[in-house]
Amino acid sequence: MRFTVAIDGPAAAGKGTIARAVAAEFGLAHLDTGLLYRAVGAKGGDPVQAAKELTAADLERPGLRSLEAGQAASKVAVIPEVRAALAAFQRRFARQPGGAVLDGRDIGTVICPEAEVKLYVTASPEMRAHRRWLEVGGDKARVLAEVRERDARDSGRADSPLKAAADALVLDTSEMSIADAVAAAIAAVRARRQGLTTLA
Ligand code: C5P
Repeated sequence: MRFTVAIDGPAAAGKGTIARAVAAEFGLAHLDTGLLYRAVGAKGGDPVQAAKELTAADLERPGLRSLEAGQAASKVAVIPEVRAALAAFQRRFARQPGGAVLDGRDIGTVICPEAEVKLYVTASPEMRAHRRWLEVGGDKARVLAEVRERDARDSGRADSPLKAAADALVLDTSEMSIADAVAAAIAAVRARRQGLTTLA
């Protein structure tokens, strides 16, 4: 059954954790699409060429999860030719026969507007910065500044800006435990899968 779960939202809102949990619960393939942009940003040289020639090995490069790699990713992500070069792979992944979960910024709006489930996972910038700081340490004010800078760039770009799809279920995880957020996401996916089975 083709079944796509699109999970979008700003940095450090909990998308990745929710996406992995949903994929494991329902046996779906998972793609962290941010990693594609991080790998393009880290490759150096011409980003359009890097996006066209991206290989699986590029996704294994050490340091892709760092704050710097996140900033570099959001800079190459404003380039329409970079986004276009990565789109076909993401669309094929999304519609693979066994079903898939993709997390990113534009999955429910641009890559897979036909996704069966769309979630928009968000939280206050302060809460997201706090969570990111627990992972990476260092200067907390700098982590918050980086979060705000990346939000502004991702939401303000002309091509595929970060925003919730009109039909997305919004999960604000500011005041939610991660376990509750995961449970809410799983419940939404289960309800949709049951609906589709009943209709079939
Ligand atoms: O999700 P993650 O923090 O790894 O994403 C890194 C950057 O890649 C984001 O800040 C964003 O600029 C870009 N990105 C994007 N579209 C996606 C996924 C990530 O523009 N679908």
